[in-house]
Amino acid sequence: MGTRGKSIVKLDVNKLLELLNKAYADEWLAYYQYWVGAKVAKGIMREPVANELMEHANEELEHADKLAERILQLGGTPIIKPEDWYKMCNCGYEAPENPNTEALLKQNIKGEQCAIGVYNKLLEFIGGNDPITFHLIREILEDEVEHEDDLENLLEDFESMKK
Ligand code: FE
Ligand code: FE
Ligand code: MG
Repeated sequence: MGTRGKSIVKLDVNKLLELLNKAYADEWLAYYQYWVGAKVAKGIMREPVANELMEHANEELEHADKLAERILQLGGTPIIKPEDWYKMCNCGYEAPENPNTEALLKQNIKGEQCAIGVYNKLLEFIGGNDPITFHLIREILEDEVEHEDDLENLLEDFESMKK
């Protein structure tokens, strides 16, 4: 990144890079959890659930892309070995061992709730000290809030079908 662009970052850049890379690891794992979940999904409302999961998968991949671009701008390197995703992530990976659509929704809601916590904490860490990263993370957080809401709405549809 340009020297002037870097000079407006009033944070410990190494610490920021570590937090961004941790979030980057989460995004790849979230991407795969959604993607493979959409593939294996079975049961009630399979098609709308699988479509929503695949849409979210694509959005998590976009998040990973944006994080990688910012990490590079700040002079860092995005994680280059998938095995490090597991070591660096905040939210872990839950294999969709139960392909039932309701179970998949619950599993991914948990993931979104973790992501919301992580990004909210990251915003608190950044505060007014790096407006560019703050804006990027705020945008990602907005998507995660929407993801949680989408999945919870689908789950509500299940509940009302049971009545
Ligand atoms: Fe994401
Ligand atoms: Fe998400
Ligand atoms: Mg959605």
